[in-house]
Amino acid sequence: MTVLIKGAGVAGLTAAFELNRRGIAVEVVDAAEIVGAGASSYAGGMIAPYCEREAADEAVLTLGLSAADWWEKAVPGEVFRNGTLVIAAGRDSGELDRFAARTRGYEWVGGNTIGELEPDLAGRFDRALFFSEEAHLDPRKAMAGLYAALVEQGVRFHLGSADVPSEASFSAVVECTGAAAIAATPGLRGVRGEMLFLETAEISLSRPVRLLHPRHPLYIVPRDNHRFMVGATMIETDDDGPITARSVMEFLNTAYAVHPAFGEARVVEMGVGVRPAFADNLPRILDRDDGFAIAGMYRHGFLLAPAMARQLAERLCGADRPPFSPNSSFRHGATQ
Ligand SMILES: Cc1cc2nc3c(=O)[nH]c(=O)nc-3n(C[C@H](O)[C@H](O)[C@H](O)COP(=O)(O)OP(=O)(O)OC[C@H]3O[C@@H](n4cnc5c(N)ncnc54)[C@H](O)[C@@H]3O)c2cc1C
Repeated sequence: MTVLIKGAGVAGLTAAFELNRRGIAVEVVDAAEIVGAGASSYAGGMIAPYCEREAADEAVLTLGLSAADWWEKAVPGEVFRNGTLVIAAGRDSGELDRFAARTRGYEWVGGNTIGELEPDLAGRFDRALFFSEEAHLDPRKAMAGLYAALVEQGVRFHLGSADVPSEASFSAVVECTGAAAIAATPGLRGVRGEMLFLETAEISLSRPVRLLHPRHPLYIVPRDNHRFMVGATMIETDDDGPITARSVMEFLNTAYAVHPAFGEARVVEMGVGVRPAFADNLPRILDRDDGFAIAGMYRHGFLLAPAMARQLAERLCGADRPPFSPNSSFRHGATQ
């Protein structure tokens, strides 16, 4: 069996990695010239099942709990297991209680512990929620790592318009085309996410910091080279046009509220990604005539792609099921 994965974002790359790991031959095609050209490239890379549970179904937590382990095995050295710190300005302190009531996996910490965890935030916040089990990674580095590992293991990539293989020559096709699937997939919608990168050597953070706010809850995720990803808006549209001035102002205000030294940071990149999502914001493996689609990763691509890849592998070649054949009656309904 040889499987064609369409789309080299986080869903496609993790699926390719998981199938290849199980001895299933895969090839990957992407319309772009590089891997990770879609929404995956703009993600915060937070592996935050407990924080996400605040506004998501329990399945996001249970499916996401093993994600950090999966990523650590797949791309050793790229996962930072330093937890997440959730803070709020004094006037919004009630947001912390509201957040805490909607999830678990945290401890309340006071000003001293905040300063021990993040010395640059010492004295700035009186209390916070600390989710010690959470992790983060740099999405671009993680995807580059998966790509390099797959190429090394002999997986063929067809990037750009040249050298596109015929789908008919594969036993199954798995569509992982992200927001590009919206038009042809009933129930799939786009949720626009804007972000920007700041660069400053004046501040250092060891973990994602989420600043709660009644209208604009935002976060800052540290990267290498004194960079910080600031994100992200959640706007109900599949418009992927340039970031708006309003969003830039909100991001910069947030960064400044976390630490005034961000006021002197350089804005080195701005970006927009469209998150594909179903009405319940849970991902699905959809049946297609020639295989499957992994769709609707919403704001949980890095958190839930490993679980979806595992489910896909089991459907294609489960221990208790016959291998997938497009002409067989082997079909399953959507999960979640
Ligand atoms: C600002 C922002 C922050 C986020 N932060 C987080 C986070 O912290 N943690 C988290 O887990 N998730 C996060 N997400 C969500 C995550 O980024 C998405 O869930 C994920 O990127 C979706 O991945 P995907 O592979 O389905 O789609 P994409 O990454 O969009 O990949 C789709 C790929 O398909 C290719 N393609 C399209 N059409 C075709 C075609 N016809 N043939 C071949 N290839 C095609 C595209 O070129 C692209 O490479 C964030 C998203 C955004 C926008």
